[in-house]
Amino acid sequence: MKLPDSMRVLERGWLSSNNVLFIGKTRTAIVDTGYCTHAEQTLALVRHLLKDRPLDAIYNTHLHSDHCGGNRILQMHYPQLCTHVPVAEFDRVNDWERMAPTFAATGQRCEPFHADAAISPGDVIELGDLSWEALSAPGHHPYSLLLHNQKHGILISADALWEKGFGVVFPALDGWGGFQETRATLDMIDDLQPQVVIPGHGKPFTEVKAALKEAYSRIGYLEADPVRNAQNGIKVLLKFLLMERQKIRLTEVPALLASIPLVTAANRRYLNFGVIHLAHWAITQLRRAGALAVEEQFIVNVEASR
Ligand SMILES: [Zn+2]
Repeated sequence: MKLPDSMRVLERGWLSSNNVLFIGKTRTAIVDTGYCTHAEQTLALVRHLLKDRPLDAIYNTHLHSDHCGGNRILQMHYPQLCTHVPVAEFDRVNDWERMAPTFAATGQRCEPFHADAAISPGDVIELGDLSWEALSAPGHHPYSLLLHNQKHGILISADALWEKGFGVVFPALDGWGGFQETRATLDMIDDLQPQVVIPGHGKPFTEVKAALKEAYSRIGYLEADPVRNAQNGIKVLLKFLLMERQKIRLTEVPALLASIPLVTAANRRYLNFGVIHLAHWAITQLRRAGALAVEEQFIVNVEASR
């Protein structure tokens, strides 16, 4: 797989989203900026690749903490850069008191940043001297955008399509639906027939038909019983915290889960476990999947799986 020379995919660990850096003749830009705990590393990677050139723009596909957590450090280092966010989030970003609870809902963190411009579905954006269309892709996140370059058949898919599956259908956790939207987004991707997909997490891939097949199978499985999506969402949120902290005392897990509003909402709606039962269930599930180990009085992150 050969991508145009003006783009570099920075494949990151699962805590941070991938970043796509564009180095055009006259303008540089980055799509998504990772999680806040990796912000220094994000800046170092960008500086290394841009050498003496400044970063001119940030484009966020969606405002999940693992996609915009490097915005602040990049804004501070490159004061001239222009930060673009999906149009539906523009006002909220610039009124951080309204934005902060959206990160707190998942138990995750994000350093405050500002937005300078909005991206609307249908906008055509020039990145790396290539033309990209912004496409609305609800499901995983109601306001997520994808970027598509028709000429080279490249799709930047964020968390709407990975090589194996897609991101948690978060709106469904507290009863806002999202399964139909996820399916419609997959239909849209199928219609585009991209040659290469650069996902938000994991390596770029060309076996797009196989990925779509797996994603359709998964949305059918989740849609048939939304409890499955809730179970997956709770496990993913605990795993994320464990990736961030690496180890958590067993006795702290019930209170930690209870402190995450989206976990509490999903549990109340779909599982109705007591908080100790919920913690025991989540730990057992992740341990069986090989995503954590229990060592003495702690749960410990196991890196190899997700
Ligand atoms: Zn996401």
